[in-house]
Amino acid sequence: MKINQKRFHEHIETLAEIGKIGETGVCRLAHSKEDREAVDVVRLWMEEAGLETHIDGFGNLVGRVEGKEKDKPILMLGSHIDSQPYGGRFDGTLGALGAIEVVHTLKEEGITPNRSIEVICFADEEGSRFNKGVFGVRGIIGQLEEGELERKDKNGVTRLEALREFGVEPDLSQSPVYKPGDIEAFLELHIEQGPVLESQDKPVGIVSAISGPIWLTVTLEGFAGHAGSVPMNLRQDAFLGASIITKEFNELVRNEGTPNTVGTVGSVQTFPNSRNIIPEKVEFTVDLRDIDLDARTKLEKKLYEIIERTSKEHNLEYSISEDTRSDPRYCADWIKDIMKAEDEQLGYDSPTLMSGPFHDALFMSYISDYGMIFVRCEKGISHNPLEYAEMEDMQKGVELLYHTALKIAQS
Ligand SMILES: [Zn+2]
Repeated sequence: MKINQKRFHEHIETLAEIGKIGETGVCRLAHSKEDREAVDVVRLWMEEAGLETHIDGFGNLVGRVEGKEKDKPILMLGSHIDSQPYGGRFDGTLGALGAIEVVHTLKEEGITPNRSIEVICFADEEGSRFNKGVFGVRGIIGQLEEGELERKDKNGVTRLEALREFGVEPDLSQSPVYKPGDIEAFLELHIEQGPVLESQDKPVGIVSAISGPIWLTVTLEGFAGHAGSVPMNLRQDAFLGASIITKEFNELVRNEGTPNTVGTVGSVQTFPNSRNIIPEKVEFTVDLRDIDLDARTKLEKKLYEIIERTSKEHNLEYSISEDTRSDPRYCADWIKDIMKAEDEQLGYDSPTLMSGPFHDALFMSYISDYGMIFVRCEKGISHNPLEYAEMEDMQKGVELLYHTALKIAQS
């Protein structure tokens, strides 16, 4: 292998200590103290790799090495180092640290790239803290929305306050940082977060496309009352409505979706959340995704019908807000071709697969061609401290990233 396996291993292990929970978990919420600590450590590794670094007005950590031909569109590599509240050690970090290892290896090989290379650790990919993620990447491509800095976390802290606490003066006027044509290719390495590679007994995979998610927040309002005194037929129970919708939505996706369609209700908040009061208000999230846009649209319409009908039947008011809507995005054929050729040289025999989860790369695809490499992870478990990937598999993924990046950087 060209990459320094020992160094990469040490970086993964060291970063896993920051925000560590239990034996194998991490909690590095976006813009938090732990997130900042991680950024500072990773920044040092970037500098050791020969990258010149800065933290931008969205909280992204960016490193750059100048190429011989400064006018050429750059090559960008990266992922994220923030985590879910109850997250694993490899989600995001594999790609972020792998990208740094690629540049460090180039330096040790005495290679000055033709194109400039930037490595980026995107801010708030996960979206858990402010219920809206991929903030950093949307910042650099110009896809931020109204009110983005006013979103609050569970403790009432706004993103603006959190970013300041993190040490960044948010500057949304910097958006977009890049425009189409600035970046030749964006490459992201990531754990698969699914069971496909494991089932095929392959350490590495080449991604064909990322399926598009819709994120909705549904609010149902009924009427509170004493759990002991209001007869069943007079109730307006918002939680009952939410549970019926959840069940019917699940059946809809199972019965009418494609093999790639997935739908989840993942977060539920009830008010006043008391055991002897009928729930007056419930807010819950819906996550619906597919690689087939028509199939997804069809199910989305039916979901609205379910919400409408259930609300009527149970005498509830409802509102639906849309937090995210992304179309499926396909990896560039020319990048996949380079990956396949390099993969053959390395003798990995990597399969091609799609990505159900979205990644920073999904957003980069709006301004640049992109490619992704997946690494097998145990039982497909992710967003969980039990998330596990073999070091050897991850090193193979970084090695393929290195050879792909080298080809593109020298083109
Ligand atoms: Zn991730």
